[in-house]
Amino acid sequence: MPGQLRKVIIVGAGPAGLLLALRLAQHNIKVTIFEATPSPSEQPRATHYGPPAVYELRRAGVLAEMQKDPDCFRMNRMCWRKLDGTYLSGFDQNDLDQDGKTYEDRTTVLALNKVVKVLGTLVGQCEDAIVKYGHKVLPGVEQDSDKAWVTVQRVADGVEEKHWADYIVGCDGAGSQVRRSLFGDWEFPGYTWDKQIVATNTYYDFSKFGWEDSNFIIHPDHLFMAARISETEQLWRVTYTEVNGLTNEEIQARQATKFKEILPGNPNPEEYKVVLTSPYKIHQRCAPSFRVGRYLLAADAAHLCNPFGGLGLTGGIVDVGGLADCLIGIHQGKTSDKILDEYSRVRIEKYRTIIDPISTENFKRLYDQDADKALEKDEFLKMLKTIEGDIEASRKVQLGSLGILHDFTTDFDGKSSSYEQNTLGSKLEKVDNATVTITPVVN
Ligand SMILES: Cc1cc2nc3c(=O)[nH]c(=O)nc-3n(C[C@H](O)[C@H](O)[C@H](O)COP(=O)(O)OP(=O)(O)OC[C@H]3O[C@@H](n4cnc5c(N)ncnc54)[C@H](O)[C@@H]3O)c2cc1C
Repeated sequence: MPGQLRKVIIVGAGPAGLLLALRLAQHNIKVTIFEATPSPSEQPRATHYGPPAVYELRRAGVLAEMQKDPDCFRMNRMCWRKLDGTYLSGFDQNDLDQDGKTYEDRTTVLALNKVVKVLGTLVGQCEDAIVKYGHKVLPGVEQDSDKAWVTVQRVADGVEEKHWADYIVGCDGAGSQVRRSLFGDWEFPGYTWDKQIVATNTYYDFSKFGWEDSNFIIHPDHLFMAARISETEQLWRVTYTEVNGLTNEEIQARQATKFKEILPGNPNPEEYKVVLTSPYKIHQRCAPSFRVGRYLLAADAAHLCNPFGGLGLTGGIVDVGGLADCLIGIHQGKTSDKILDEYSRVRIEKYRTIIDPISTENFKRLYDQDADKALEKDEFLKMLKTIEGDIEASRKVQLGSLGILHDFTTDFDGKSSSYEQNTLGSKLEKVDNATVTITPVVN
């Protein structure tokens, strides 16, 4: 069906770019993705997708494909512990099930490289989407009342090409070229944490110590997170902090001592196997605007948060779901392009009022208190303790994360919502931000 939009260019074939391409192509919008690298990334990053992201993945038809992977599973329990392994408090996602029916948007676990593969396959099946790997978008902004352009360099031979589209969406990650072209190289307001984090994929049997699917350990120097990332084997994401300024070699050299100190059972290296180690700098940052004319930003290109809140890609996927609704609405003549200003305004507000403060609190909780006093002083852990066994209260707390969703179709001129009723029976946008307590969905 012909529509208003002739073509959308997406910069970056990470999870955000691919999901956006899929949603648009499913609605007959022609999309080209330019991706600088020759193939999809294998970095050990996101593994856990919270309920708002799962909702978006489900409605795009991605969740069902992810669930075909034997390693994909729905998370059950999450908890906070002291360094000696003592359980403090936690919650159970089984509380979200009702009348014997599994809550379908429960936090879902699958390594990001596998999700990207699923997305790549689905996008590959869409006639209206093309992914061009090995095509790097260069600095520059050029737009008029009809089109916007990007200059793209073919990495293999250095040849430069110019491409136009109705809209150009930067889904090009934390170092986004699109964002830097729009606002300058250093204009990404926020800060970088003075803590070095190290993410590993480690084979070790935490379950023999009675550990939950996801565990956060509170300690000023040895905070860490251990979360199961495979349904079929004892593969865990262990993410810990290190002192600043170490080289990768120094981080590797200190790992055995660190693991002996922090892991339950104080194992020697022959008792576990680390298959991936990646040091990361972490940030809390948000672009000044997610729209400048025909250029748009989404996900890490637009905002960053520390991964201990598990709100990084979860927030990015929600951006993409909302942006896709807006572009589809424009394509179908249901709304004007003013909706894109609303996209920028709402998503920045969600970052500032929910994602940034909650993810900050989630990280600080792990190092900025005495674990022995956490159940007296930490309001969140105290609250979880008091609602233990109260399934309704537990549901309410856990579904607070739906507050990061926003239904842009209700902002279309006089058009009613196309969002589904959620399983609490209320419209998603009715979740009250003021009462949101987002439980971290992990690493
Ligand atoms: C250790 C760790 C654990 C995490 N765990 C979680 C988690 O459990 N849950 C969660 O929700 N989030 C998590 N996150 C965050 C999550 O991984 C990121 O938010 C997510 O990967 C961002 O996706 P994206 O598509 O926006 O960007 P990216 O995945 O960074 O993709 C951007 C793409 O753009 C390409 N690109 C860049 N520049 C150009 C250019 N000039 N031209 C063309 N292409 C370009 C890049 O090559 C890349 O492929 C974690 C992060 C870390 C570091």
